[in-house]
Amino acid sequence: MCRLRHISLLDAAHIIPDSDERGVPAVSNGLALCKIHHAAYDENILGISPDLKIRVRTDILREVDGPMLKYGLQEMNDAPLSLPRRRIDRPNLEAIEQRYERFRAAG
Ligand SMILES: [Zn+2]
Repeated sequence: MCRLRHISLLDAAHIIPDSDERGVPAVSNGLALCKIHHAAYDENILGISPDLKIRVRTDILREVDGPMLKYGLQEMNDAPLSLPRRRIDRPNLEAIEQRYERFRAAG
């Protein structure tokens, strides 16, 4: 989601967290996210819907603040997730769905 070429700023984020028994350290349970979006995903500030679009939590969309909020979060709402070319490297849809339920419950 980050459109950032600087690999050193990207984390391998869990879709289903480590703390969950289903939170396996596999590519299919992972997203390449920059530090900010990794934290925002973990905190349910943004989520990924089962149609693989980025969703920003409603209360965050209503906030008024500086450019980081506006360009870094709010403007990403409804943007499609960019997917790896190889199917095997893409996120597991069940994991995405399961995690999205938690995002929805949070906001
Ligand atoms: Zn990012």
